[in-house]
Amino acid sequence: MEATELRTFAIDNHLFRCIQCGKCAASCPMGFKTILNPRKLVYQALVAGEFDPKAHQELWDCTTCFTCSIRCPKEVDPGNMVIQLRSLLVQDGRIPGTLTTALKSIFERGNPLVMPARDRGAWVGDLDVKHLDDGADVFYFVCCTTSYDMRAQKVAQALVKLFNVAGVDFGILGEAERCCGSEVRRLGEQGEDSLFESLVEEWGEEMADYSYQRMVTTSPHCYDVFKHHYPMNGREVLHYTQYLAQLIQDGKLQFTNKIERRVTYHDPCYLGKQNGVYDEPRAVLKALPGLKLVEMDRSREKSLCCEGGGGRVWVEDPNPEKKLAAWRIDEALGVGAEVIATACPFCMQMLEDAVRTAGAQDKIKVLDVAELAAEAL
Ligand code: SF4
Ligand code: SF4
Repeated sequence: MEATELRTFAIDNHLFRCIQCGKCAASCPMGFKTILNPRKLVYQALVAGEFDPKAHQELWDCTTCFTCSIRCPKEVDPGNMVIQLRSLLVQDGRIPGTLTTALKSIFERGNPLVMPARDRGAWVGDLDVKHLDDGADVFYFVCCTTSYDMRAQKVAQALVKLFNVAGVDFGILGEAERCCGSEVRRLGEQGEDSLFESLVEEWGEEMADYSYQRMVTTSPHCYDVFKHHYPMNGREVLHYTQYLAQLIQDGKLQFTNKIERRVTYHDPCYLGKQNGVYDEPRAVLKALPGLKLVEMDRSREKSLCCEGGGGRVWVEDPNPEKKLAAWRIDEALGVGAEVIATACPFCMQMLEDAVRTAGAQDKIKVLDVAELAAEAL
């Protein structure tokens, strides 16, 4: 980056507010396993006089958990700075090969998993689910991972069961649903003429034509991007834990089966730290008879990132010996939990991998909040 370009970048990202206190670096979970250091990046962008993002491949290590931005006492927002710097690498075509495959697949097939669009609604099977063509109160946005991943599909199936018991008028788009672009944006594929921009324009317009009052998402990533970056034309966007908590409060969901298990809750970063949704998932868990909710020390805004956000699930792990999710499973076992519950398909994948790697399947299970709630019906 040239000096003038660098100065504009520093101003746009409020880097001049930085006092180099190091809170961002100290709180960055990836600093535990890679050379990623947000304080140093801010310093270099500010002071070095020139800054070459190409020399900073650790930018791909960021999980976009935004812990750094939350902890920064000067509102510098280093998390967003990392995304902006990634954009420069993307513009230059310097992205890891696995990301190219995911982005190309989103463009061509509407999902990053190189799966055929026609199979997107296959998870429904013989469940009672209608298409949004007929209009509905709730547009249930399923998400790419939840649609195709056989483990995550169980979460969508549990939600359908819960919605039907509560008498919710909901519809899905099936094979017409497309990627929300959350991770595309966080990878830096944003701005003018970007893939993210085209998703917002085309997909956003398409969605606006359907008749519904509110959107309910499975994934905190879809929830975050629709809530903050799409024109929703006054329609409410809710994460499913928020919606279930409302249904429980309104007396539309009642539970009779006892869940006699000690459960701890892992806050997904995109739901908790980035959107302040801490209470609703816990309210759902507390409503389940017999369930004993125990908290890990690092919960709510102190929660540890699972490492799956910001496109990290599609990038090679720079240090596979150290996994944040493995650390998280140790913390859950430390509070005597038999179940670690979460509410995000990426967290689910990362935590389940960690349980398998540790050979701890007999000690702890990873379940989604929706699965526990459906079990308690
Ligand atoms: S926390 Fe904020 S002020 Fe402190 S070093 Fe990081 S960016 Fe600078
Ligand atoms: S967003 Fe998270 S992973 Fe990225 S630099 Fe900030 S604290 Fe580290």
